[in-house]
Amino acid sequence: MGLFRTEFLFMGRQGSLPDEDEQYAAYRAAVEGMHGLPVTIRSIDIGADKPLDDRRPDTHLNPALGLRAIRWSLAEPVMFLTQLRAILRAAAHGQVQLLIPMLAHASEIRQTLELIERARAQLDQRGQTHGPVKVGAMIEIPAAALSLRLFLRHFDFLSIGTNDLIQYTLAIDRTDESVAHLYDQLHPAVLRLVADTLAEGARQGKPVSVCGEMAGDTAMTRLLLGLGLRSFSMHPSQILAVKQEILRADTTKLAPWAQAVLASDEPASLLLPPP
Ligand code: PEP
Ligand code: MG
Repeated sequence: MGLFRTEFLFMGRQGSLPDEDEQYAAYRAAVEGMHGLPVTIRSIDIGADKPLDDRRPDTHLNPALGLRAIRWSLAEPVMFLTQLRAILRAAAHGQVQLLIPMLAHASEIRQTLELIERARAQLDQRGQTHGPVKVGAMIEIPAAALSLRLFLRHFDFLSIGTNDLIQYTLAIDRTDESVAHLYDQLHPAVLRLVADTLAEGARQGKPVSVCGEMAGDTAMTRLLLGLGLRSFSMHPSQILAVKQEILRADTTKLAPWAQAVLASDEPASLLLPPP
């Protein structure tokens, strides 16, 4: 499964926004390019490491904790409704999974789902064709990983954004070189949040994928398989290596080993050799 990071349509244009038809054309091309397979389109994740206008960098003290992703979308409903209408129109041409980044609060979930319905109603009013979408949430704030029942009640699927989940769990700015050595994907707390999300999704029969860098890291493939992950989303250049690792793995032996890694104070020491 791939991920369409829509912010790249919005960046590098000095703050001006693509209109609905331009967005629709881009999303439709992505949908049609999948020839019937689902495409995951993530709503705009602007802010922090992805500024809308790089000539005017974010001057807030902690941009990673500020108005980014869904927070920005909810603060700019006209922009968000435009994007949602474009995605819903593209969904008439194939299978679309709409993924919402950086949710933490029930109120954000409620507002987001209401805006999706409003966008649909606007298209109906115009008599414009649109298609069904599955709606999913990114689990990338620890608060979300600790509120899984809320998320699973409202969404069709979840996707774990490990890049941000690590950043926020460990309080490490992912863009700050001076703390890069503390950015640890094997920290027991990070693994616990990933494992719980996978397990709760499986219990409730809802798909959970991982779409951060962790999913494309072959050193993590067997551990993620052992924790129950079956849907990896990564850059195309990593697919072959991860696929080979998956084919080599004996999944029956991986689950007990993954539980031992999860229970360890130093998971990295148990990672090699994998079973
Ligand atoms: C993530 O946070 O893991 C993720 C996939 O999104 P991004 O890297 O675009 O924030
Ligand atoms: Mg993210």
